[in-house]
Amino acid sequence: MTKKNDTKHAVKHHLHPFSDNGQLKKNGVRMMVKAKGIYVYDSDGTEIIDGMAGLWCVNIGYGRKKLAKIAKKQMEVLPFYNTFFKTSHPAVIKLSEKLIEITPDEFNHVFYTNSGSESIDTMMRMVRHYWASVGQPSKKIIIGRWNGYHGSTIGGASLGGMKSMHQQGDLPIANIVHIEQPWYYGLANDNESEEEFGIRAANWLEEKILSLGADKIAAFVGEPIQGAGGVIIPPASYWPRIEEICRKHNILLVSDEVICGYGRTGKWFGFQTLGFTPDICTTAKGLSSGYLPIGAVLVNDKVTEGLLAGGEFNHGFTYSGHPVAAAVAYENLNILADKNIIEKVYTKTGPYLRKRWQETFSQFKYIADIRTEGLMCGFTLVKNRETREFFEDFGTTGLLCRDIFFKNNLIFRACGDHIVAAPPLIISKKEIDIMLSIAATCMREFEELMDQKLSHNTDNAV
Ligand SMILES: *Cc1c(COP(=O)(O)O)cnc(C)c1O
Repeated sequence: MTKKNDTKHAVKHHLHPFSDNGQLKKNGVRMMVKAKGIYVYDSDGTEIIDGMAGLWCVNIGYGRKKLAKIAKKQMEVLPFYNTFFKTSHPAVIKLSEKLIEITPDEFNHVFYTNSGSESIDTMMRMVRHYWASVGQPSKKIIIGRWNGYHGSTIGGASLGGMKSMHQQGDLPIANIVHIEQPWYYGLANDNESEEEFGIRAANWLEEKILSLGADKIAAFVGEPIQGAGGVIIPPASYWPRIEEICRKHNILLVSDEVICGYGRTGKWFGFQTLGFTPDICTTAKGLSSGYLPIGAVLVNDKVTEGLLAGGEFNHGFTYSGHPVAAAVAYENLNILADKNIIEKVYTKTGPYLRKRWQETFSQFKYIADIRTEGLMCGFTLVKNRETREFFEDFGTTGLLCRDIFFKNNLIFRACGDHIVAAPPLIISKKEIDIMLSIAATCMREFEELMDQKLSHNTDNAV
């Protein structure tokens, strides 16, 4: 097994994603060596609660031997064949049928990818090709949202609304625009109700459409709940109004279900929880619970018809519909369904986590906007909850807090100054209690630290 002092060796040759690799070379990394259920174990044998399900993906939890068995069998029988040239194979057909079974009636087609970013890029090419195929080639602009996350390829990073990502590599590319996110706590006017704010935020889309011209716009894309943006849960009025606007102006509606899909919110898809029906869903992560890389773009009949009229769609990946990944994803969906995992999130663990998350964090003064939906949850670190005053240098305090969680062997994540969690969907009520009792200890430590820092600052000011 790898020893702790080997952790610098780990970064000798490997450039890590979303990391300051210079820092990593100095300080090393934490080495994860095995995992079971909701726990991961590092090279010192420390047991760590994975409150993030890996990267929002290990929905069925770690250590499912059945998936390993199925992967081995598929590798022995047919490790690879492509689906480009008039060919297919049983594993991808089975998975497609399963996906059609769990989606609403008007969804009958799937395009396969290897990741969320590839699903997003596929969707971007697909919606433009769709409009060209039905005789409206001027409809090219795709509208996303500030603080949305849609992956890290040039297309995905452009469509996402992360300014730190746009700063690198000359993004966004042409014909991508953004509207503001539906974050009630951060953006509502004084005395504005959640419902009113939800409508006003959705109307930002209509204003954008009117200013650019609907004849130039291909699609609006949003995560039902923004994940990497900090688990931003829009008011209930938001998505139905967005759908209404898209229908009225003849604009395709895309739900980026890479996090929300496959049970995260207590239904198969986030759009079912948030109350709307999209034309296209981009998915990945929970599709295989992260056991192998695979993504899928789910396409409704209207868009499929247009695409079929357009002849060949010049797009695809060597590993689109990879047999081993498809076989594992199929079994993952069966486990989610047969073991009633999603239903339990809806009826039991989701409501329980909501209650306990509120109870645990409402006692701390530097916390505001405590929120959950299914097994996605978050809160925001603030200097003053009532006046909505944030800490200076948004994100610094979040990392400070996140590191206290890490030190206590609990993985939560900081997205700016939003602290978020999304544990594996198989987490039990007892495990939720254990997780939150550690979290409370961490927040006490954080509160003391901030008390000191802030009083120190006042001393200096005087
Ligand atoms: C993670 C994520 C992506 C990108 O997926 P990758 O597999 O990392 O390429 C896209 N959209 C959303 C909503 C995501 O959370």
